[in-house]
Amino acid sequence: MYDYLIVGSGLFGAVFAHEAVWHSKSVLVVEKRAHIGGNIYTENIHGIHVHSYGAHIFHTNNKRVWDFVNNLADFNRFTNSPIANYKGEIYSLPFNMYTFNKIWGVITPEEAREKINSQREAAGITEPHNLEEQAISLVGTDIYEKLIKGYTQKQWGRSCRELPAFIIKRLPVRLKYDNNYFDALYQGIPVNGYTSIIEKLLEGCEVRLSCDYFDHRAELEGLADRVIFTAPIDQYFDYELGTLEYRTLRFEQEILNGTSNFQGNAVVNYTDEDTPYMRIIEHKHFYPGLELDEDLTVITREFSSEWHKGMEAYYPVNDAKNSRLYEAYRELAASRCPNVIFGGRLGEYKYYDMDVVIAKAMELAEKIIA
Ligand code: FAD
Ligand code: UDP
Repeated sequence: MYDYLIVGSGLFGAVFAHEAVWHSKSVLVVEKRAHIGGNIYTENIHGIHVHSYGAHIFHTNNKRVWDFVNNLADFNRFTNSPIANYKGEIYSLPFNMYTFNKIWGVITPEEAREKINSQREAAGITEPHNLEEQAISLVGTDIYEKLIKGYTQKQWGRSCRELPAFIIKRLPVRLKYDNNYFDALYQGIPVNGYTSIIEKLLEGCEVRLSCDYFDHRAELEGLADRVIFTAPIDQYFDYELGTLEYRTLRFEQEILNGTSNFQGNAVVNYTDEDTPYMRIIEHKHFYPGLELDEDLTVITREFSSEWHKGMEAYYPVNDAKNSRLYEAYRELAASRCPNVIFGGRLGEYKYYDMDVVIAKAMELAEKIIA
């Protein structure tokens, strides 16, 4: 018997496990993949910590969370400054004075503001009702056409007119020459990769890898008083109310021998509709200052597509229909299985950044561990 059974060894499960062990609780973690860490897993390939499930840049305004992770690892000074490649034209991201200068030749913030306002007025938008209108109203038609439309439609598999406006509001628009993608106070990447953080968090727990909860449900259910469930909430209930929708991703990794520097930047977004992938990441650039093999680099192309049962679920589609369904599952969970707590990205059906996941797991631990 264990005090806690934790389903999933991603960041949420691992932070909760760490807090539980610290309070002298016994913990069993089951993980369906052959490795720990969930989507923040990094693998060492020729000295480069490769982000196996897409670029992960730690950024936060939460001092407590920043101190917590810095106690577990040394972070470097990496600042995310992706660039956009639109049919061979290169633009700075997020949208800032470098972008406006390249696209319109404007020099001052006032000139950029006038350009954006005149394009918004020409499009006749007063109150944006969808992502297209929101984007044009934020940065004008030219930037929408070159840097947003194709990328967004590839990412979400639907037209920008059918997508909610809030998605694009994640991106800052700056009337400054500042291409730091995030507004956060603290930012960096662990110099030894993310997996070492998860290893530290799971010290003192029993971990079973390649163990899918649903293949061993009857046995596992009886093993612990409480369950922390970080796999999909609808799967827990065998989809009895319906299936929550996701977007899935495919990562094509390539080791390039004889090339020391493939693209000169960690992240390059391909914002046209014709290039099938959304972005290419070149992992060595996540580690500025690190001495690395000069004749080798590792890149990953990221493709987005529709999700079907059995595929890895990455981005929850938080539209009205899916949000209603998730709420119904939450009510079902509260009434039917009060000893099971659903947490993290899949358990709560939310797109959470890493810092939020850590804060949520810590809050949960404080609330329930006596
Ligand atoms: P997960 O990491 O998904 O962990 C869930 C675990 O449960 C997985 O290991 C899974 O294998 C396991 N599991 C599932 N089903 C079962 C089962 N039946 N039995 C046993 N185990 C099971 N955040 C940032 O802050 N910065 C970034 O730059 C950033 N970039 C991202 C890029 C991409 C492409 C994606 C997809 C996410 C990104 N994130 C980023 C978000 C970050 O990945 C999440 O915040 C974090 O991984 C969530 O942790 P989690 O434990 O909730 O979920
Ligand atoms: N986006 C875009 N062009 C880009 C990068 C982002 O249009 O080059 C849009 C896209 O709609 C995306 C949203 O901005 O869904 C949020 O971008 P972010 O990088 O935050 O997305 P993430 O990959 O983290 O979900």
